[in-house]
Amino acid sequence: MKDVANCPKCGGLFVKALRPICNHCFKIQEEHFEKVTTFMRKKQNRMATLREVHEQTEVPLEQIHQFVREGRLLTRQFPNLGYPCESCGSIIKEGRLCESCKGNITGGLEKIEREKERLEALEKEEKRQQHSAYHSLSDRVKK
Ligand SMILES: [Zn+2]
Ligand SMILES: [Zn+2]
Repeated sequence: MKDVANCPKCGGLFVKALRPICNHCFKIQEEHFEKVTTFMRKKQNRMATLREVHEQTEVPLEQIHQFVREGRLLTRQFPNLGYPCESCGSIIKEGRLCESCKGNITGGLEKIEREKERLEALEKEEKRQQHSAYHSLSDRVKK
């Protein structure tokens, strides 16, 4: 059976095949990426900050963060870009946490992360089961 999921961006149902988001959101995302790279390619914008990029391109800050986090925008090329630390929100350039948060929670974090993954897997499984239960029910009604 196809893997149906809620798009994490718009919440709509879609078939999870090639991408983690729906086609519609993917298109918007790529348009945003195009806008940001076109802007950053100009020499005078190389040192632009996140806020400047956001204001000039009208691309949501979160979306710019994501591009940097995914390595699609390189902080080596654009030294003022970054994304928020997952714990305190200060702007970082690599990893998931800033140096000070890394220092605070090295041991505990892995545990939290594993627990989160476990819950997510559980939720997915539940949704899948609900979905197939619905289908077998409607099949029975038809017969
Ligand atoms: Zn979507
Ligand atoms: Zn932090």
